[in-house]
Amino acid sequence: MPNPDVVVIGAGIMGASTAYHLAKAGLKVVVLERRSRAGEGSTLRATGGYRAQFGTGINVKLSLLSRQRLLEFEQETGVNPGYQPCGYLFLASSPEQMQELRRGLAIQHQAGLSEAREVSSSEIAQITPFIALDGIVGGTFCPTDGFIRPANLLRGYVEAAQRLGAEFVYNVEHWQPVLENASTMGINTPLETYSSAYVINAGGAWAAEVGQKFGLELPVHPEKRQVALVSGPSPLPDSMPMSIFCSDGFHLRVRDGRVLLLYPQTPPSDNPFDTAFDSSWLSEVLLRAKERVPALANATIDPGECWAGLYEMSPDKHVIFGEAKERPGLYLINGSSGHGNMHAPALGTLMVELISSGQTQLDLSPLRPQRFAEGEPNVGSVLL
Ligand SMILES: Cc1cc2nc3c(=O)[nH]c(=O)nc-3n(C[C@H](O)[C@H](O)[C@H](O)COP(=O)(O)OP(=O)(O)OC[C@H]3O[C@@H](n4cnc5c(N)ncnc54)[C@H](O)[C@@H]3O)c2cc1C
Repeated sequence: MPNPDVVVIGAGIMGASTAYHLAKAGLKVVVLERRSRAGEGSTLRATGGYRAQFGTGINVKLSLLSRQRLLEFEQETGVNPGYQPCGYLFLASSPEQMQELRRGLAIQHQAGLSEAREVSSSEIAQITPFIALDGIVGGTFCPTDGFIRPANLLRGYVEAAQRLGAEFVYNVEHWQPVLENASTMGINTPLETYSSAYVINAGGAWAAEVGQKFGLELPVHPEKRQVALVSGPSPLPDSMPMSIFCSDGFHLRVRDGRVLLLYPQTPPSDNPFDTAFDSSWLSEVLLRAKERVPALANATIDPGECWAGLYEMSPDKHVIFGEAKERPGLYLINGSSGHGNMHAPALGTLMVELISSGQTQLDLSPLRPQRFAEGEPNVGSVLL
């Protein structure tokens, strides 16, 4: 398909969701991916959290739109996205953290997430009896937050897009953009030149490199995140909410009968794109798990079962979404900052609205690419 309507660079969840929604709208789509299959960037390394408890209205609204799309997903694509509303529980250990969570709650309620609520320590014990409550002053809980299965979402979108005629081309490492005329861009690959009106940068943590090829400086940088898998069967149920300690970001969930531990203090590395697991981090993680979850007092971890991946960070931790003004026809769906799987159903929906009519169901001005140059980044809660 050398003359598609749209070329998408990158076959992670963003590229796949975008390709599906564009193909569903009748557009001819080609996705160019440098790896040998979809999802090999960050998408398949994610832990599968979904939440609408955020600290800005736009992120709450993206999550609510995603939830609506998740509920339709199986009917649309034939694949179960694994949405399990087990909840997200944020745990505060100081009055200041509690105040910050309350500020977030007010924003969430205003944006339409009515079911998120404040919870006392005794309510926390009822929601999940597994957390040691010493030092916990309260928290917030949203029962419709929970989990999704990134691999299912990705497969559903790729297969449904292909059924609608989208083409996924893998192992395309070397390509260059060529400006053909005011309304058409070309992408030269060793085997083919694709000419299209639109190109979409869905390059994940590598989006700045993709942008550079178009002469664009895109403020997206990688941030390494590690995941520890506790050895053996979990003493905690799969239905336990994602439980997040606001004091340091340590959090845990249970997936397929195994406990996953996350702690966002990754040891520094010389290579910002390094995804090798660094086991020097494990002692700090285990210490927190044992202190805070008594059932894990004897937990052990085999480093060989752990992994690391990259978040695609933007300066204000919100997606950079829309047309690059410096390069008309180039659209950005970058920098979701670790929330890409949960927001991809919404962002793919919005991308097709933007490209086909310019009329989007959400006001996307907070996500416009030029907000940093204009000195108007999003300002939200540091905890959410
Ligand atoms: C440990 C961990 C836990 C996470 N947990 C969650 C979570 O609970 N919930 C959630 O929503 N998100 C989570 N995330 C974040 C989520 O994985 C990302 O936000 C999401 O995968 C981003 O999707 P993407 O398509 O933009 O990027 P990717 O999946 O990285 O896809 C980008 C693709 O572009 C390709 N590419 C890059 N450069 C080029 C090029 N020059 N030419 C061709 N192809 C190129 C890459 O090979 C890659 O396949 C987590 C991430 C990590 C690492």
